[in-house]
Amino acid sequence: MSQTAVRNDSSASTVAADEEAELTEIQGLLDQHTSYLRFSSRLERGFRHHVQHRAIDLLNHGWWVLILFYVGLGLATWLQVRVYSDPALLAANERIWLWVYLAEGVAVALLLLLPRLPALDDLYSVYTGTIAFIALSSIIIATSAFPDPYLNQHASYVVIFVITIIYGIGGLRVLPAVAICGAAILLCWGVIRAFDLWFSFGHFSQYVLLANVVGVLLCYLLEHRDRVMYLQSRLLHLEKGKLDAFSRELTRLSREDVLTGLANRRHFNETFQQEWDRARREHRPVALIFIDVDHFKPFNDTHGHLEGDRALAEVGRALKGVLRRPGDLAARFGGEEFVLLLPNTPLPGAVEVAQQVQEALDALHIPHRASTVSDHVTASLGVAAVLPDNGLRSAQLIARADEAVYAAKAAGRNCIMQVDEQGRLGDEPLRRG
Ligand code: GH3
Ligand code: MG
Ligand code: MG
Repeated sequence: MSQTAVRNDSSASTVAADEEAELTEIQGLLDQHTSYLRFSSRLERGFRHHVQHRAIDLLNHGWWVLILFYVGLGLATWLQVRVYSDPALLAANERIWLWVYLAEGVAVALLLLLPRLPALDDLYSVYTGTIAFIALSSIIIATSAFPDPYLNQHASYVVIFVITIIYGIGGLRVLPAVAICGAAILLCWGVIRAFDLWFSFGHFSQYVLLANVVGVLLCYLLEHRDRVMYLQSRLLHLEKGKLDAFSRELTRLSREDVLTGLANRRHFNETFQQEWDRARREHRPVALIFIDVDHFKPFNDTHGHLEGDRALAEVGRALKGVLRRPGDLAARFGGEEFVLLLPNTPLPGAVEVAQQVQEALDALHIPHRASTVSDHVTASLGVAAVLPDNGLRSAQLIARADEAVYAAKAAGRNCIMQVDEQGRLGDEPLRRG
């Protein structure tokens, strides 16, 4: 086995072991029924990535909802300011409304723009956290800044709105969301005190603190549901991966000869029929080389069956080594008989390949004490090529190549015989010089 193959093998088994460990962890977590699903760091990373991408997708596809929401909220709050303001305070109220509406506008614009920059995907929590902080701080301060008590109260409903959005659909985790809201509340409280703005502890605790409690609960419930759903989707994905790998392995086993690793008879039959049909459609020649190892029964009798198996495996490898084009196929036809399928190859090209097979067997030089034709393992080869047309069946090409092998045996073995496109057997066998 080559070094690359060994490396590929070991990395494949590491992946399989990793996936098995993940499956066990997921099944354990799903059986737990605890109030908090604590993931391993790798699962946690995958979960965060999944949640972030879902949120980014939502923002990228649902941008119009955000704009509609912003415009609608602007219209509703502006009307409130116009209708309910004390006429003496209208100008001041409108100014404050405009400032806070612009600040929220900046937050919305950032929320529309930043998710469109894939380079910033890893910073999703940072920028959404910052945007949430700006949006919440500006609306809390505005709530207290209105000189009109009626508007103080109405603006606080918008604060509840913003807090619910941050916890509910921001895609932030519980603790960061609490930290952001907490920091915004503290900052706003400081600003309200420093500028001596309107403040009522009872009111403030109701609309800010209560909204936070509800928000945390919402955030927790959503995150818990997301975690369970993520585990279920990973479970499905991993189980499907295992089934696919299993099915690929079954397909491989059903098409491969165990001893030589070449295609088996069934795989050859399928491929040959496909290539035959293609050759007929495209008016191209197709060639077969039959290879029958010489005196193999005596080989087994002399060297033993185990040595015989080893020799067949080596012959198989040599045959594979001779083939160059991706469409060519080497198969074990049965026992000590092999076949090479060469699509789009006329007779002279196929004979050349047959000669290369002989060279490869000579180079292998597997000692054969019981052979009457050589001191090492050799083979008799039959080559046939045709241009399939409507009158000819695929089985006839097999029969011609088979006939050529018999002729090669009859001609003394360790040689090549060919059948031309008209089905005429060649006069002279080809031997190595
Ligand atoms: P010929 O030169 O005429 O082809 O003679 P041969 O002995 O090769 O032909 P024959 O058909 O008489 O014998 C084929 C032998 O191949 C018989 C069988 O023991 C051996 N053989 C077939 N399959 C296997 C296998 O998987 N392993 C081993 N070790 N031997 C096999
Ligand atoms: Mg045979
Ligand atoms: Mg034989």
